[in-house]
Amino acid sequence: MLIIMEQGEYEKLLERAYSALPKEALTKERFEMPVADSFIQGQKTNVKNFGSILKTIRREPEHMLKYITKEIGTQATTQEDRLVLNGKFTSKQVNDIFTNYIRMYVLCHECSRPDTKIADEHGVKLLKCEACGASSPVKRL
Ligand SMILES: [Zn+2]
Repeated sequence: MLIIMEQGEYEKLLERAYSALPKEALTKERFEMPVADSFIQGQKTNVKNFGSILKTIRREPEHMLKYITKEIGTQATTQEDRLVLNGKFTSKQVNDIFTNYIRMYVLCHECSRPDTKIADEHGVKLLKCEACGASSPVKRL
């Protein structure tokens, strides 16, 4: 069966569908949590798409490396676009750490949008949201 919609009908339908969604669902839908693509090689764990994840979340590699090193308790380095961890870690372990970092240091604690930056104000690290204007203190690494 073929349904022909009048021009503008589809947009109207979309609009209706969106306005029926709770606000929170809408904002969360905008950001897709990146998935770390990792594999183990010898005694090391490689994350192939580290570079592209950093681009998506707009964070400096040094900051995330610091976090990862602390959380995972091992040395981490970057090689071009890759992240290399000393030791063997499952994809789940790697992704848990990435997700925690993104929740803490990327997504706004108020509106969950990723349009944020980390600012330093009087020695306090703040996660500032460009979307809703909220700023939340975050742990210094
Ligand atoms: Zn916000």
